[in-house]
Amino acid sequence: MREPPGFRGPFRTDDAARALYAEGAGVFRIVPAAVAVPRDADDVVRLVRWAAETGTGLTPRGSGSGMAGQNVGSGVVVDLSRAFPERTVVDVGARTARAGASVIFRDLDATARSHGLRLPPDPSSGAFCTIGGMVACNAAGAHTVKYGAIRRWVRSLDFITADGEIGRAGAGDDRHASTGAEHRFWEGAAPELDRRGEELARVRKRTRKNSSGFAIFPDDLPRVRNLLIGSEGTLAIVTGVEVELAAVPAAVSTLLITLRSLDDVAPAIDALDPFAPSSVELLDRTYLDFVRAAIADRLPPDTEAMLLVELEHDGRDAEAAVARIAGSVVHADDPASCSRLWETRHLASPLLAALPGTRRSLQVVEDGCVPRHRLGEYITGLRRLAAAHGFEIVIFGHAGDGHLHANLLADVARADLGVALARLLDDVSGLQTDLGGTLAGEHGDGRLRAPFLERLYGATFVELCRKVKRAFDPAGILNPGVKLDAAPLSGAVLKVGRDAPAIAPAIAATLRAIEKDATWATFRLDLAPTA
Ligand SMILES: Cc1cc2nc3c(=O)[nH]c(=O)nc-3n(C[C@H](O)[C@H](O)[C@H](O)COP(=O)(O)OP(=O)(O)OC[C@H]3O[C@@H](n4cnc5c(N)ncnc54)[C@H](O)[C@@H]3O)c2cc1C
Repeated sequence: MREPPGFRGPFRTDDAARALYAEGAGVFRIVPAAVAVPRDADDVVRLVRWAAETGTGLTPRGSGSGMAGQNVGSGVVVDLSRAFPERTVVDVGARTARAGASVIFRDLDATARSHGLRLPPDPSSGAFCTIGGMVACNAAGAHTVKYGAIRRWVRSLDFITADGEIGRAGAGDDRHASTGAEHRFWEGAAPELDRRGEELARVRKRTRKNSSGFAIFPDDLPRVRNLLIGSEGTLAIVTGVEVELAAVPAAVSTLLITLRSLDDVAPAIDALDPFAPSSVELLDRTYLDFVRAAIADRLPPDTEAMLLVELEHDGRDAEAAVARIAGSVVHADDPASCSRLWETRHLASPLLAALPGTRRSLQVVEDGCVPRHRLGEYITGLRRLAAAHGFEIVIFGHAGDGHLHANLLADVARADLGVALARLLDDVSGLQTDLGGTLAGEHGDGRLRAPFLERLYGATFVELCRKVKRAFDPAGILNPGVKLDAAPLSGAVLKVGRDAPAIAPAIAATLRAIEKDATWATFRLDLAPTA
């Protein structure tokens, strides 16, 4: 592949560079044809114009921590971690901040905190994910139960279209189009979205979080800003964001609640609702069994699940309200005791990352979200389906939002790994759909879940998503195979198992170390500095 004319950043086609960008978080390995690292917006414009002329697929990428295969692709991976480094500028009076899309969440949030403010949707990946990647996935976090996902906090977005034009989508942008892509959208796709609004409203999910599909529902307004949020690099490249900020709470308290039955999960969360918890996290028995050696003395023996709850007040009334349902409740309201209670939530990640031998923790059914009152059925179903396909499972997550993470513990030497994972994924997406849930609460569809969008929302929804995609990206150059038209999961795109695409063993080991140490923001070309 020849370098795009006039492109000034690194453009690499050597095996080492391509292998370093073959993986992100999650299970995928796809070796790209080339890697491009734009220096700035001009470079991105050159790249997309060249891609449109040559019909080359571009996979935008921030830190590569997305889990659904949306940051890998067979065309050119575009590392945006260097292009938009504009530092965070806070407007304290307006309670807003502006930052370039390459800025890491933790840096933006730290700048806000130096003014007594914060960006409340705080993903666990906040230490390494870019704000551009967060917006592209509609990322969320433990505080989303009170504060919503990033969608609620984005005021405006700066972007570059697939035609290489520069635009801004803010609150007042509706029907105002500064780029050809927006013109095509308003003239072609938008009238049809309006016409079919009732049909769309009928298939909208009643979950508290959702990162599946494009935001094409009648109340997803203003249209362009909402479409770009959660579009996973398939509609435009985000270059900068303006976000709203919230005050840092003066004090917080924590409750650690044990439950004796999965039937108690939804009633316990309902009992907490009036006290506006800022976080309601669940650790299922599968999780507690996995970390049992470290917590045995703190756990009543008949515990089926644990809730960890944060409240932005003293929490005593909430404690009393949940006590009649709980097996036990422990309350803490000073910072040291609160962090001790939260320790259990942080025990699993290092253990999952370092499983011995051929055992690995895999994220394939890791992000489903269901109506909260169906959480018990969802957990039971996940446990049953994982066992039926021969996998152990570790379940935890954001129960206040009905949203659970589930890691599969697999022997990757197993001969039928790809087939078994694909079947489990199919069954679990059926379960999520049947429960009135959605496939992705915060990680997005990527390549993993895109094949199930039609089952989730129906054919009309997918047809309308295609129309939106054609308006924004007529040549289909932005992240092809992500969100729409994805191939089903198979062993040939996995980073583990006997059918995994071959890359140099030393690079495979380097990528594994990034995964184990969660050093996702590592600039990959520093690891292969010359071609
Ligand atoms: C240990 C761990 C914990 C995690 N915890 C959470 C969590 O709590 N909450 C959560 O929501 N997610 C979580 N994630 C998933 C992931 O971190 C988020 O989706 C994050 O927002 C991805 O950011 P990134 O910079 O790594 O983007 P990447 O993974 O590089 O890209 C993600 C998607 O965004 C697109 N993209 C990236 N930058 C741009 C841009 N500038 N313009 C247009 N498209 C772009 C890419 O094309 C891709 O589709 C976690 C991941 C890991 C590994």
